[in-house]
Amino acid sequence: MPEGARSRLVVLAGPTAVGKGTIAACIRAEYPQIWISVSATTRPPRPGEVDGIHYWFVSEAEFDAMVEGDELLEWAVVHGVHRYGTPREPVEEHLAAGDPALLEIDLQGARQVRSRMPEALFCFLAPPSWRELTRRLVGRGTEDAEERERRMSTAQLELAAESEFDVTIVNRRVRQACGELVDLLLPGPR
Ligand code: 5GP
Repeated sequence: MPEGARSRLVVLAGPTAVGKGTIAACIRAEYPQIWISVSATTRPPRPGEVDGIHYWFVSEAEFDAMVEGDELLEWAVVHGVHRYGTPREPVEEHLAAGDPALLEIDLQGARQVRSRMPEALFCFLAPPSWRELTRRLVGRGTEDAEERERRMSTAQLELAAESEFDVTIVNRRVRQACGELVDLLLPGPR
C-alpha cells in the first residue's frame, strides 16, 4: 500500500438522526471521486433503499457467515436490534488504489476501526443541539415510538463520545457540513 494512502480514510460517526445518511447522500451525488463503503445489515430495507447502494441487505445466516469468515472490518448491533458491518475487502482495495474513502458507521464500529486502522481520520458529526436532534428523529417518521425511545437513549451515549474523535463537524446545514467533510477527504484546492 502506498505511503499515506490510508490517511485518506475518514470514519464518520455521530448520534442517530444527526444526518449522517443525508451527508453521505450529498457526497454520493456530488463527489463521485469519493468512495463510500456499503455496509451489510440484517435490517430490512426502508422504502426507496436499494440493495448494493444503500446497504447490502443480508439474512442473519449470511451475516453470521461474514463474521465467521472474518470478512468484516468491524460490525456491531446498533440500537439493540439489527447488525451492521463494513465489508473489509472493498475498503482495502480502494485504499490501496489511493481513493479517498468514507465509512459512515456507529460509535461502536468507529472504535473497532480505531483499533485496527489508527491512521484513519475520525470525524464526529454533531447536532446543533439536543432539542434539534430530537426534532429530527421525530420528524423523520421512519421509526415507531418504541424504536425512537431506544434510539434516543443510544444517542445520549453517542453524544458523550465526541472527545474521542479527531474532528467535529456540526450539522447545521447539510451543504456546509458536506463541504467540511469533503475538505477532510480531498485536501487541497478543488
Ligand atoms: P439506519 O438503520 O438508520 O440506516 O442506521 C442505523 C445506524 O447504523 C446508523 O447510526 C449508522 O451509522 C449505523 N451503521 C450503518 N452501517 C454501519 C456499519 O457498517 N457498521 C456499524 N458499526 N454501524 C453502521
